[in-house]
Formats: sequence, C-alpha cells, structure tokens
Amino acid sequence: MYSYLYIHIPFCAYKCDYCGFYSECDTGERHQAYLDRLFEEMRAQCGQCETLRSIFIGGGTPSMLSPAEWRSLFNVINECFTLAPDCEITAEANPESLSASHIECWAELGINRCSLGIQAFKEEDRRLIGRRGTLNRLPQIVRELDEHDIVRRNFDLIFNLPGQSLQVWREALLRAVDLGATHVSTYELMVEEGTPLAKRGFVGGDDEAFLRFWDETEQVLSQAGLHRYEISNFAKKNEECRHNLAVWKGGTYLGCGPAAWSFDGSARRGNVSNLDGWLKHAAQEVDVLPVKDRAVEILSFGLRLVKGWQWGEYQQITGYDARELRGEQLEECQRQGLVTMTNDGVVPTKQGLLFNDNLLSVILE
Ligand code: SF4
Repeated sequence: MYSYLYIHIPFCAYKCDYCGFYSECDTGERHQAYLDRLFEEMRAQCGQCETLRSIFIGGGTPSMLSPAEWRSLFNVINECFTLAPDCEITAEANPESLSASHIECWAELGINRCSLGIQAFKEEDRRLIGRRGTLNRLPQIVRELDEHDIVRRNFDLIFNLPGQSLQVWREALLRAVDLGATHVSTYELMVEEGTPLAKRGFVGGDDEAFLRFWDETEQVLSQAGLHRYEISNFAKKNEECRHNLAVWKGGTYLGCGPAAWSFDGSARRGNVSNLDGWLKHAAQEVDVLPVKDRAVEILSFGLRLVKGWQWGEYQQITGYDARELRGEQLEECQRQGLVTMTNDGVVPTKQGLLFNDNLLSVILE
C-alpha cells in the first residue's frame, strides 16, 4: 500500500529561536522509550508496504541518535520492509552533532543521501536565529561523506534574515555549491508566532526583498547546474528528492514517529505532535476526503513543481482528467497568469510559483 517511508526523530540539542516544528530538547534519557515505540509502530505495518522506493529520516535532529541506535533502527527497517535495490535513503543531520562514527555507520547501513541543516554560514546570522555550536567541523564532515561515498547532499539554507544582504546570501549559496551540494532547499525566514524570534520583535521581510532573494537564488544556483524544480528546492539533474516528489505527486507514504503523517492514497493520518502522547498511543488525526476532492488536492500539490503536470500522468495517478475535473479553475489561473496550459499538460508560471497561495485558492475553491 505504501511506497515511501518517513521516520520522524523528535530530538534536538536545543530549540532554535525560529523553530515552529515539533521537536524536544534532548537529554538522551528518552531515546530507548522512543525507539521501542517506533519499532512497535513499524512492526504493526509489516506487510503493509510495497517495495520501498525511498526512506527519509527527518526531524528534529536525527544525528542526535547514536550509531548503535541507528543500527538498531535499521535492523527493524530491514525486518519489516523490502527496499528497492536503488532505494534512496536520506538522513537529516546538524553538523554540530554529526560525528565521523555516524558517517561510517550510515555508509554501512546503506544511507546514500544526507541533508545538512546549515541555515546560515555567517556566524552572526547563526547567532541571530539561535543556532548554537559552530560549523568548524563542516569541511571535515564533507570529506568524510566523500570518503564513504555519500555524495548526494542537500543543504538547507534560510534567506531574508534580518539585515542579510544579497551579497551574504550569494556567498552562502556558493559555499554550499563548493561543499558539493547536489540539492539545495531554500526557505524564507518565517517568524512563527510564539517563537523566541517573534518575542524579540522580529518581523518577516517584505515582498520586494523576497523577490530579490528569489531571483538571486535562481541565478546563482542555475549557474552552478542546480535547477529549481519546486518552489523552494533546487537540484542537479536526477538529484531531486524522491520522498518530496512523492508527497507532491500523490505518492503513498507511511510516516512513523511523533508528528509524522501517512497517506494511503485516500486518507491522511497524522501522529500526535507530542512525544508523551505518542508513547501512550494517542489517537491519530484522520483527514478523510471524497476521492474527487483528494484528486483536486493532488492537482494543486503538483503545481508546486516547475514541471507541473502532464495530463496523462495526472490521470494515471488519480483516475481523473484534470481538464474535466478543474478545467474552469485552470482557465482562470491561466487568465491570472499563474499557469500555462498546453495540449500536453499544465505548468505554473513564475507568478504561479511565487504566489502559489493564489493558485491554490482558485484550484481548491
Ligand atoms: S534543529 Fe531544526 S527542528 Fe531542531 S530546533 Fe532547530 S529548526 Fe527546530
């Protein structure tokens, strides 16, 4: 039923000042309880998955687990699931907690893609958003990843930080390229309500600044051979993140761990965003939609992708002809300059990517 697996590891060394994700400050004391429950959750799904095309281990900060804990995790993954020979296995990490023994262990376990949460290279920017520790070990980490043939690397970077110049942003992108990025995820700083950053009175940047950063990102990364394939994501050829593509294209994925969501092609089920609640088997949030509405939702998700949809591909996945299902709305989006339709399919324009919310509100109306 599921073709993709996501595992959420909810521990972080500390909470960053901008963080709106679910994670807990790690003391190391709850790892075993977490792993026991995770293994129970995965074992309950034995036989529910097709051959897995990708596994994404995110968080939180997955590199907070020790190499011995990673090995026990993979013992259960291999016990419960069948992995495709070319299964893409991504692990997220923060450079501060990623040791040489982690990397050695990852290579041994078959992890073939690493996503590094850098956010900012410049020390004062890192302090501003509450990133502690340093990036001193980063060049060594990159050498160790190379030595172990984990050459597929994503860098997460945040732009439009308070006072950040385009020059500093350009340097950050080029540094990621120098460090062998095959994929870059770029996010605008979002000042989420209730975070320390919001309490300190920071507000997000304006639209004009956003546009300048957006164009700069595209220019610098495309010159380095990384093309934008989704609103926030850039990759070298064939280096797109398989897990994320599945989410945007209506693929079925199993989510394990607190705050993880699953999608079986019809219903979405979300685990509670609370370690205690999840350990005690708190009920899942269930989002059920009529098949037709789900197909509309999938249509809208796919329009986050630069390539949009081929009509045939969409019909194969959802069983619907997009032009019959949402022809009027797609025409309206085209009139507003948000998409372009051809005989083959529909692609978002630059405006459609930049103002994706507008596009969604028309498609989902
Ligand atoms: S490392 Fe990521 S998940 Fe953890 S606190 Fe920082 S932003 Fe949040």
